[in-house]
Amino acid sequence: MIRSLNPDSPSDVVDAFEPDGPEAIDEEVQRARASLEEWRASGAPARSRAMNAISRELEERAAEAASLLVREVGKPITEARAEVSRAVAIWRYYAQIALLPDGETYPAAGPRQWLITRRYAVGACAVITPWNFPMVIPTWKMAPALAFGNAVVWKPSPEATACGRLLADIADSHLTEGVLGVVQGDAETGSALLGHADVAAVSFTGSVPVGKQVAVEAARRGMRVQCEMGGQNASLVLADADLDHAASTIAYAAMGYAGQKCTATSRVIVEEPAYAEFRDRLVAAIEGLPIVDPRDEACVVGPLISDRARASALEAIVQSGGAVLTGGTTLEGEGFYLCPTLVEVQDPSSPVFAQEVFAPVAAIIRAASMDEGIRLANTVEYGLVAALFSRDVGRIMDFSDRIEAGLIRVNAPTSGVDFHAPFGGTKSSSFGPREQGLAAREFFTESRTLLISAGA
Ligand code: NAD
Repeated sequence: MIRSLNPDSPSDVVDAFEPDGPEAIDEEVQRARASLEEWRASGAPARSRAMNAISRELEERAAEAASLLVREVGKPITEARAEVSRAVAIWRYYAQIALLPDGETYPAAGPRQWLITRRYAVGACAVITPWNFPMVIPTWKMAPALAFGNAVVWKPSPEATACGRLLADIADSHLTEGVLGVVQGDAETGSALLGHADVAAVSFTGSVPVGKQVAVEAARRGMRVQCEMGGQNASLVLADADLDHAASTIAYAAMGYAGQKCTATSRVIVEEPAYAEFRDRLVAAIEGLPIVDPRDEACVVGPLISDRARASALEAIVQSGGAVLTGGTTLEGEGFYLCPTLVEVQDPSSPVFAQEVFAPVAAIIRAASMDEGIRLANTVEYGLVAALFSRDVGRIMDFSDRIEAGLIRVNAPTSGVDFHAPFGGTKSSSFGPREQGLAAREFFTESRTLLISAGA
């Protein structure tokens, strides 16, 4: 039995279920396959209307969805509302994208010939998602998959199944029967889904070790794969930056939602002349963040997802070999709270600097120059997001050219995603094509080239 607990009050069991085994998985994949023809034949305008209807119903039920997010994953209520409105906007966006031209024409070699490309859906796609954005991440995978005529079998995270069920129920009621299937469970269910011979593609978001296994399995099967994985994102603060703006922005990016965002800031690298002053301002900004029940409008930090996640973060702090400038302690009570923690490190191989902790824990380190700052930022295996704080346009351009990250943000938090622009990282943070925006169309469709000749 798998149980999904309320991280603020773990005695509140939000959901409990038996994981789906091979038979249930096969049933969902076969239903998805069987629905494909009708769904594709329904045409893009009908699919667009379905996406709009899902968007409308989710908007009508936004308050219910946001309070479930707070209860099941401990997301601060203001962020929970923002996640639901983003999901609403994404369904609406792909309702329009579904109507874009679905091919191109090229000059043909001969007379009375047309040379045309057309985009076709890929087939039954597996979608495997993490617990931390249980409405918006599945949406930014499923909405384009469905809009372009694919069927989906979705495996939500076992730590967010109630949120998953709500979203799936809303979507399912506007779709052709069987086109969206759901299987529940953890690693065994996910890997059995990937092993199913009729799954044509997999879109995965989660941790680096699991994503690498998913990529290996997909390559073995020869199926399309995109994996979005972890980050250990750096913010580099140069001496010419607006230090107050940088401190408040980084404090929020590092500790908001207890640091449980793949785009959270986990490493703060500060150019030497500003180091001591900036460090003190950052500590003050972090200490000003309210850590309260996520239902409270003032909440910024909130609890961690599980006791295991909190124990592993505390272990990383102990092993860091650095000085704890603030935090490092837990809160009284049954919720999985950890005070926002800033650790000053000298050695970039420290576990809080080199490895994703996925908690309200950040490392701060000094750099003698911008060059050293970029070198320190690039030392880790991840490359999802990096931020620069500076007012010097030349240094901003040099940073953008030399930093190893898929998303670069200047004078802005590492956290935050624009759903209409391509999203993804470099190195171990991503594998396969980008997602979101128009990039999603490349993954969820394949182009065929047709030559039509009228004959002699
Ligand atoms: P996770 O890797 O533990 O699980 C992700 C999903 O994979 C879950 O649904 C899980 O049940 C499933 N899974 C586990 N083992 C599997 C296997 N062997 N085969 C198939 N599926 C399997 O990640 P999590 O703890 O749910 O989420 C946190 C991680 O996700 C962090 O590393 C975070 O950085 C990352 N993340 C990345 C992004 C991004 O866009 N880059 C966004 C959000 C979260």
